[in-house]
Amino acid sequence: MVRTTFTYQELKRTNHREIKRLQDQKFRAFIRYQVWPNHPYYRRLFKELDIDPFNIVCVEDWAKYNIPLVRKSEYKDHLREFVLNPTEVDGSPRDPADVVKNLMEYSKEAGHSDLAKFIRNNGARVKLKIGAGAAMERLKERLAHQYAPLQFWLSSGRASGLPSPVFLTRYDNELLYSNCVKVGQMAIDPWVDSGWELISMNLFPYAPHLGWHAVNLGLKQMSKFYVATSAGGAIPSEKLVELAGVFKVNGFAGMPSYMRNRFFRAMAEADYEAPERVVVVLAGEKIYGPVVEDIKTILVAKGAREVRVVGGYASSESKISFAVQCDLSGPYHNVSPLMLAFESVKLNDDGTYDFVGEDESGYAALFHLDGTGTVVEGFLLGDVISKQERGRCPVCGMDGPFFWDVGRTNDAEAQIQVIGLTEKTIKGATVNLTALRSDLLAISGVEEVQIEVAKEDMQDPYSMDVLNLYVAFRGSVSSNQAALIEELKKITKISAEVTPVVHVISFEELLERAGGMKFMEVVDSRPKPS
Ligand SMILES: [Zn+2]
Repeated sequence: MVRTTFTYQELKRTNHREIKRLQDQKFRAFIRYQVWPNHPYYRRLFKELDIDPFNIVCVEDWAKYNIPLVRKSEYKDHLREFVLNPTEVDGSPRDPADVVKNLMEYSKEAGHSDLAKFIRNNGARVKLKIGAGAAMERLKERLAHQYAPLQFWLSSGRASGLPSPVFLTRYDNELLYSNCVKVGQMAIDPWVDSGWELISMNLFPYAPHLGWHAVNLGLKQMSKFYVATSAGGAIPSEKLVELAGVFKVNGFAGMPSYMRNRFFRAMAEADYEAPERVVVVLAGEKIYGPVVEDIKTILVAKGAREVRVVGGYASSESKISFAVQCDLSGPYHNVSPLMLAFESVKLNDDGTYDFVGEDESGYAALFHLDGTGTVVEGFLLGDVISKQERGRCPVCGMDGPFFWDVGRTNDAEAQIQVIGLTEKTIKGATVNLTALRSDLLAISGVEEVQIEVAKEDMQDPYSMDVLNLYVAFRGSVSSNQAALIEELKKITKISAEVTPVVHVISFEELLERAGGMKFMEVVDSRPKPS
């Protein structure tokens, strides 16, 4: 039997061989009956490369047939082509009966037996003309549920001035709903048997990214009580600490730099009493040891006896789920291995690539095994993982696919090779600063700009990111500088989700600052964590 998913308890009982077998079965069905008929980009690619999609039987076959990995630069130029569209085939309309037939094939092969039954029953009514009109309506509704994009997360790599979107359907939302709860269950797993109950607080920024929304869906399902906030967005951090105290919150989720530099700092200053056991889930940025230590120290000083911190790993493109650590010293577990596969690849000099073995490091590549809307296969996420394994986790004992130590590919040259463009992560949002600079230079009145990514406290590598704009205006505009500064801020905020600090200097000063002849358009002067 093909399964469509595992609950957390089922995952704990299954072994990695069984998971791999089912992963490949789902991947096979997905490529044959969703991607090949409905995905404009891969359909074209398979044809161009003369690949029979029915020969692809496991994820590793992607490398066997040398199917190109997708870089962000490629993705942003083909946004529409990455969205499943069953209504067209090779640019022409498809017969609605064929749309239903493909979905039927897919449901059967991928183990979605309820969906298969639904299509069979309503299809029969249409054919036999027993309540055909209503049956047809139900099928239409179901197709819209399955395929019509409902919302998006923003990804990096810009298309027409905005970060590029990754689309989700209602069906994707359903999958996210059942997957995100597993992330939380892993985070609190060691305490559940003792009867400990979660009272949670969402401290992710509210934005069209996976973070806030997935955490919101997950915490709402698993908490005894849930406090939804938007980090410091709507309510100041001091007030949030007060709320945490009033509701006795014992589980916090947010981005490391906001948590350390705002929320827990406010907690340290406040008259606040921590619960005995506290869990903290961090995601969206790399997690550094000293950041975790600071958070723990504050909680312990406020009375917590036991503090459990774990990291989550996701990207906009992972869409319907993410990976989570079983312990801060442990690996990241893929809690939805039948929906997504995180693979590790090595890029060869001749343009080919290989899946790497268990003890090697590699670049993280994402494969979708389920879902609709935007679908990517072999998508280079731009992160390096030190090693990936299948088997029993040495820390928690769960038997499945997991990977260790995720880090961004930060070096500009490596970024070009891996994702096809250069970008910086600022306060968790990934920003293409070269593109931002050209937008800023397009403002008439602006002569030259240098963009600097720095830290609020340059002595503290874990403090909040800041974005500085060093700007020289044209001589004639000195009268309306204030309006220009506002415009620079506005454009930057749209593009980078960060309000910059604008420093107006003379053109000569700017040239000197930026290195004279070899003009440094973008500098990252953030101190490196030791
Ligand atoms: Zn583990």
